[in-house]
Amino acid sequence: MTREDALALDAADPLAPLRERFILPEGVIYLDGNSLGVLPRATPALIADAVTRQWGRDLIRSWNDADWIGAPQRIGAKIAPLIGATAHEVIVADSVSVNLFKLLAAALALRTGRSTILTEPGNFPTDLYVANGLAALVPGVTVRTASLADIPQALGPDTAVLLLTHVHYKSAHRRDMALLTAQAHAAGALMLWDLSHSTGAVAVDLAIANADLAVGCGYKYLNGGPGAPAFLFAAERHLAAIVSPLTGWMGHAAPFAFTDDYRSAPGMTRFLAGTAPMLSLLALEAGVDAFVGVDMAQVENKSAALAQILIDRLAATDLELASPARPAERGSHLVFRHPHAYELTQALIARQVIGDFRAPDLLRLGLTPLTLSHTQVWDAATTIADTFTSGAYRDPKFSVRARVT
Ligand SMILES: *Cc1c(COP(=O)(O)O)cnc(C)c1O
Repeated sequence: MTREDALALDAADPLAPLRERFILPEGVIYLDGNSLGVLPRATPALIADAVTRQWGRDLIRSWNDADWIGAPQRIGAKIAPLIGATAHEVIVADSVSVNLFKLLAAALALRTGRSTILTEPGNFPTDLYVANGLAALVPGVTVRTASLADIPQALGPDTAVLLLTHVHYKSAHRRDMALLTAQAHAAGALMLWDLSHSTGAVAVDLAIANADLAVGCGYKYLNGGPGAPAFLFAAERHLAAIVSPLTGWMGHAAPFAFTDDYRSAPGMTRFLAGTAPMLSLLALEAGVDAFVGVDMAQVENKSAALAQILIDRLAATDLELASPARPAERGSHLVFRHPHAYELTQALIARQVIGDFRAPDLLRLGLTPLTLSHTQVWDAATTIADTFTSGAYRDPKFSVRARVT
């Protein structure tokens, strides 16, 4: 493959026009949309309007007139088609971490008599921390970890819920959602999927997988902005019985009745606790709207093509591919292992190729098909190979560790 071939792929790329939906800084090749998505073109004006008109001029009236009050459900409904859910099964609230707490507690309550949360070692840290924090709070509850291969044997009569991440944040390994969900169900457990690295990256179908519960991230592939609110999902069949442990007033059936007693709102609304961060919510909505009309099968195809360019062109370096080689087993990022991955990441950022480092030795490169061209990825591979083979990354300034890597 040559650079001309990459240009030809761009010319034939059905997703290429979507790049217009985003503000992409000149000269930068951004391979970190899996950590903080780019700025949608519509967002600045929407936020300016939300601040100056809806807040500044219309003030409290905007809760009704601009339907601020309906935003968590409205945006949840827009996320639903991206994850194979129906509109009322999804709501936007809080962070993934807080939503994990809510849904793990809800799962334990739905499976009375069972007290084990099963998950895997090396899951995203917050998933483990939250599960353990909840277990410390609820007498009798324990967290058990088992590697993916051992999950079927680890599932048992005491497992209340199996918590797994669909696309692993480091390796990019994509788990068989339908198979693992079926295994959890066969043991009588509920299945909770963390979709943070999947939503907007790969095709997800919670309905076909028959999943029970899910959470996902707003600031990664959904381009909702730094710290964007997250979302949560519960399957229709659970909506009547499910309860949230955070019984805040926004999850009340009638918040503006101001009664002393708690009565939960119907459906997913009960998973709201406090007042939603409206500016962040509206930014997330712009990010989600950028997916309107996007065919996730095309997104997956392009992701595979972009990844293949990197894999092929970096094969001659000492960088070791630490992600699955087969696209069907991956999400939309790649990791490469090298003892100097941190320095290499910093040296690349200095050359306007922005990826990130994941401890202890991984260079992580996010491939966002809505915003990247094949030629950019070709050029990134050239820069990576050169930074690597020239030894440019050995400059001591690249080994200074920042707080965020
Ligand atoms: C990014 C990410 C999170 C972090 O969620 P917060 O919204 O920051 O709490 C959780 N889980 C996975 C798998 C992630 O990739």
